[in-house]
Amino acid sequence: MPNVDRRRALGLLTAGAAGIAAAAAPDLWHAGPSRSASASGGHKGGHHGKGPAQPPDPGYAHGQPMQALHLPVRSLQDLSPTAPANAIALTIDDGPHPKYTPMMLDLLAAHGVKATFNMIGEQVVEQPKIVQRIVADGHQIADHTVTHPINLPRLDTARITREIGQAHDQIAQTTGVAPKFFRSPGGNWSQAVFDIAAQHKLICVDWKIDPRDWARPGISHITRTMLQAQPGDILLCHDGGGDRIQTIDALKTVLPQLKQRGLQFVAL
Ligand SMILES: [Zn+2]
Repeated sequence: MPNVDRRRALGLLTAGAAGIAAAAAPDLWHAGPSRSASASGGHKGGHHGKGPAQPPDPGYAHGQPMQALHLPVRSLQDLSPTAPANAIALTIDDGPHPKYTPMMLDLLAAHGVKATFNMIGEQVVEQPKIVQRIVADGHQIADHTVTHPINLPRLDTARITREIGQAHDQIAQTTGVAPKFFRSPGGNWSQAVFDIAAQHKLICVDWKIDPRDWARPGISHITRTMLQAQPGDILLCHDGGGDRIQTIDALKTVLPQLKQRGLQFVAL
């Protein structure tokens, strides 16, 4: 089954379905060059030499070639065959949040865990210092739209382009780093979403382990669910969208226990 998943996930878009995306595919994963090029070449411009210095890419798969997708990545094996055998990836959505994101960063630092933050563009603009700390702490940053429309695939093409493209630029202009990954709100995907993400050189990422922590199901439920992680899994949790104390408290148990099992957290 992993092989089938991977073939489907990595299948090239047909030229007829998405000419622009297919044409962009060979350049989809250029970790180094795309950072500086995209950060200064955003749609709006006006960002010259004021951003922070370029940090190294925190991801584990530097420079791996990547093809445009017609399914989102759900495991590290989908993303790159070079993933360490014991690797798992923690993805943290819906921030930055002025209270919970710093708590999350402190916790990750205490356990030496690198993660990936899927950020909402309009909050990035409100919390630039926190976003810059995420980058400075060595985490990966990703595009999670400007306003988090849960029905993104149902919006018209212009609106989808604005949600993905503007968040890309807001993150790039705040951090000096162009995001390489995109997560659709609620994990709701469509071919139009894949195509527009590919036009922005973004790789679409889903998840395998979902504790539904946004619904505050209780610390023990979140903990139990996340402890089901297996090598290669992408885990989902949240630092925004409401009170995230349950998530933080669960991770205080989850992070050391998964590490104790020999699993290694990697940024995407
Ligand atoms: Zn979200």
